[in-house]
Amino acid sequence: MAKTLACRDVGVDCPYVSRGETEEKLMVEVAEHAKEVHGYTQEQLEDPEMMKKVKAAIKTE
Ligand SMILES: [Zn+2]
Repeated sequence: MAKTLACRDVGVDCPYVSRGETEEKLMVEVAEHAKEVHGYTQEQLEDPEMMKKVKAAIKTE
């Protein structure tokens, strides 16, 4: 069982899908991608509204 998160599911126009064995690993992936590709700051990623949006978009495969 893997956890996935598609950028487009959080409202970003990007075909990337992050993947992780656990939600924790997935969040690390997501944060790296968001910072490198989308220019988010750590602060923006830790925003409670952002976290809520991200967690709601996580799918289990
Ligand atoms: Zn992306």
